[in-house]
Amino acid sequence: MISFDNTEVAFANKSNRSLKKAYFVFKLISISWLNKFATKMLQTGLKIGLPVKGIIKNTVFFQFCGGESIHQCEPTINELAEFNVKSILDYSVEGDQDEYAFNDCLNKAIATIERAKKDRSIPYIVIKLTGFMPFHVLNKNTEGIVLSDKEEIEYDKGKKRLKTLSDAACAAGVPLMIDAEESWIQGNIDEIVLDLMRICNKEKAVVFNTTQMYRHDRLQYIKDLYEIAEKENFYLGIKIVRGAYMEKERLRAEQKGYLSPIQENKEATDRDFNDALRFCMEKLDRISLCCGTHNEESSLLLTELMREKEIAADDSRVFFAQLLGMSDHISFNLAKAEYNVAKYVPYGPIKEVMPYLIRRANENTSISGQTGRELSLIQTELDRRKEANIL
Ligand SMILES: Cc1cc2nc3c(=O)[nH]c(=O)nc-3n(C[C@H](O)[C@H](O)[C@H](O)COP(=O)(O)OP(=O)(O)OC[C@H]3O[C@@H](n4cnc5c(N)ncnc54)[C@H](O)[C@@H]3O)c2cc1C
Repeated sequence: MISFDNTEVAFANKSNRSLKKAYFVFKLISISWLNKFATKMLQTGLKIGLPVKGIIKNTVFFQFCGGESIHQCEPTINELAEFNVKSILDYSVEGDQDEYAFNDCLNKAIATIERAKKDRSIPYIVIKLTGFMPFHVLNKNTEGIVLSDKEEIEYDKGKKRLKTLSDAACAAGVPLMIDAEESWIQGNIDEIVLDLMRICNKEKAVVFNTTQMYRHDRLQYIKDLYEIAEKENFYLGIKIVRGAYMEKERLRAEQKGYLSPIQENKEATDRDFNDALRFCMEKLDRISLCCGTHNEESSLLLTELMREKEIAADDSRVFFAQLLGMSDHISFNLAKAEYNVAKYVPYGPIKEVMPYLIRRANENTSISGQTGRELSLIQTELDRRKEANIL
């Protein structure tokens, strides 16, 4: 059985200096009040033009992002590839909801496909649909509200951008993953992605949808999707995650008085996540799976399921994925054992990737155990290097 305890493997790509820096960053964001205070200060600083970019760059930015452009991500891509860890380039700009921003996202995604098609160390590209069309349109469609004429035009333009992108992905043979977002826009995202799968996934999974297993309806959703794919004879690409918007989801459901889509507790999320892995492994003849998690138990379970079903570690239909800067002990130990492993490598101008960085900072403060685990693994490796006289 694979073990994630080997910190020498986990941090093989990190110099003493960058290891100490990672420790410092996790220590900083683990202090809840400091995290909140620093986030507010840095956001305000960026808004009013104070010279805070350097602080962000030297702390959270280079811990969790590859750079401000694809070019700046090259050292990270090469460094990961040296250890058999692949990169999923993610233009992580969020928030701007105008034509200029949507077209910019499309151009960046196409540039990413161009970069990926030359290189086996970039197995997928990833996008968020809210980077391609307005949030409020996705929301109205999900809630069955009729669009105005202007919104119809915006929606058509968004779908055209996606068609251009998926055509480019198909032509280049680079799989395209669509992230999952808030439940009040996800219904429309699911519809759009299903249509793309019908077109692009006739011979293999090129377009991937994401399912958040913190929702109590998603295991059934995967099963239903499988039925459709069987009936209509296309392949399914599925990225399984637990979900990143739990607090926001619960709060909105409470404020608006509807049943929260979130599972009752963490155990239920874990159960459905693991059952989804089992289901996908049963149906691997039609499903390609990307398991996006930092959870050791689920990652181990997937390796066990692969062993039981005699599926080679490097079978191209199964990928493990973690975010850059997090859970290297899982990524690097799996990669050493020759599993397909990829890191999300977010990139974009500092100001624009702030929402992503804030989510990472909050996640590392609010999820009990996650930061503690990162800190203790780094400390173990620092101690090991000290003992081996290489610190
Ligand atoms: C490669 C990759 C891609 C990702 N893509 C997306 C994406 O497209 N969309 C997205 O939303 N997120 C995405 N995420 C983030 C992901 O959804 C999780 O927020 C994050 O990975 C933490 O979950 P975990 O499985 O790693 O670990 P764990 O630490 O085991 O689980 C933490 C998660 O469990 C759930 N949870 C915690 N407490 C409770 C509770 N009381 N009740 C119910 N559920 C609970 C929450 O989802 C929480 O984030 C991605 C993560 C990775 C690694």
